[in-house]
Amino acid sequence: MQYVSTRGKAPILSFEEAMLTGLARDGGLYVPETIPTFTADEIAAMAGQPYEEIAFRVMKPYLGESFTDDEFRQIIAKAYDGFGHDARAPLVQLGPDHFLLELFHGPTLAFKDFAMQMIGQLFEVALGRRGERVTIIGATSGDTGSAAIEAFRGLDAVDVVILFPQGRVSEVQRRQMTTPSESNVHAIAVEGDFDDCQARVKDMFNDFDFRDRVKLAGVNSINWARVLAQVVYYFSSATSLGAPHRKVSFTVPTGNFGDIFAGFVAQKMGLPIDRLVIATNQNDILHRTLQSGAYTKEAVVPSISPSMDIQVSSNFERVLFDAYGRDGEAVAQQMADLGQGGAFRVSQGALEFLREHFDSGRASEDETTATIARSFAHTGEVLCPHSAVGVKVAEEALQPGVPMITLATAHPAKFPAAVEAACGVSPALPKRMADLYERPERVTDCANDLAALEALIEEKISA
Ligand SMILES: *Cc1c(COP(=O)(O)O)cnc(C)c1O
Repeated sequence: MQYVSTRGKAPILSFEEAMLTGLARDGGLYVPETIPTFTADEIAAMAGQPYEEIAFRVMKPYLGESFTDDEFRQIIAKAYDGFGHDARAPLVQLGPDHFLLELFHGPTLAFKDFAMQMIGQLFEVALGRRGERVTIIGATSGDTGSAAIEAFRGLDAVDVVILFPQGRVSEVQRRQMTTPSESNVHAIAVEGDFDDCQARVKDMFNDFDFRDRVKLAGVNSINWARVLAQVVYYFSSATSLGAPHRKVSFTVPTGNFGDIFAGFVAQKMGLPIDRLVIATNQNDILHRTLQSGAYTKEAVVPSISPSMDIQVSSNFERVLFDAYGRDGEAVAQQMADLGQGGAFRVSQGALEFLREHFDSGRASEDETTATIARSFAHTGEVLCPHSAVGVKVAEEALQPGVPMITLATAHPAKFPAAVEAACGVSPALPKRMADLYERPERVTDCANDLAALEALIEEKISA
């Protein structure tokens, strides 16, 4: 299995190389050259299997020669060992045809643990074998950073550096990043918003001198291995509800388009997904794009679902690549327009492709709050604000006879203030992290400036 860039001008890589590289050298994102498919029988045989077994079957075809079967089974076992639920991704029912996929039982209580724990183990094995050391860099709107730190803390072959927007992450999110005491963990509070953090990370990858000097590796949702790990729970949940014998739909609270892109991959692999519904908060660039065909950046407006406060949705490039018939030059042109004018127009053909595969909706702040309250009153389920955005949009997209699975992307205790304001319940942290508010914090502030950030990082990793 080989990996090509969405902009068509970077070297073709193996799974392991693409994973260690992150962003392609032409600025694009790596995608598999072809998508493997399952027969209906193979999909049916996944029903009722342990999550780890489904992970092995779904991911294995993408790995090529990079890991042996034994190695890979051990990697998966370690990745999910620290989860607080035996099912890993349990389903609960909200209504006759509406289900919630709880993706928040990992060590940092958000769905990003599914991919990040996996990547930590994959990196450890791959780098150990190569005798190499890398600097993992990531920008976070809150959950990616804590998940990355949790996955890499204390590993020998990596430093992990996380940029987060100062004052724009929740206290639980911040503490999850600033309280680990391992010397290979470096949390940096940037004076800017998430898009600034993400842009500086991209700049560092495009500064080839710096990139090579510190052996930069990316684990943001642009990393293909992360997308791949997220494909698994589409299979586990859909087969629990009767796929492939009946279709299911998914609604996905979306920011960087990584999680929902994984659903698109699952569909291409043969999973009978009826609708894939993009749910956005008031930062609704993806919803607007599907409606109008114009991808137009606006200022980020902070919301109570901060992990979706995004106006440049990195992984959208992957679906554009398919929408443009895998024409890397067309994608590169659109991204150049975005870089220069803050906007691009999706061609008519590409827009039709997008509308064929995706629906979309948005939830305002008031609608999100009302959904948390309503869900608690009617089902006893306490939703985090991101999951509530999903539930609100899903309710509008329900089709008779087609089960809808809404992805619950974070535990409500990660966003206690918003949840309590909405439904009067102050959700408690699981026992295993109850002392989070007592641990000492360690963080460095930095200007939103490439040179300053690069100098700071070099100083930290050589310390
Ligand atoms: C990251 C995140 C999202 C958005 O996921 P994308 O893959 O960026 O679309 C939604 N909810 C929560 C809680 C998150 O942490």
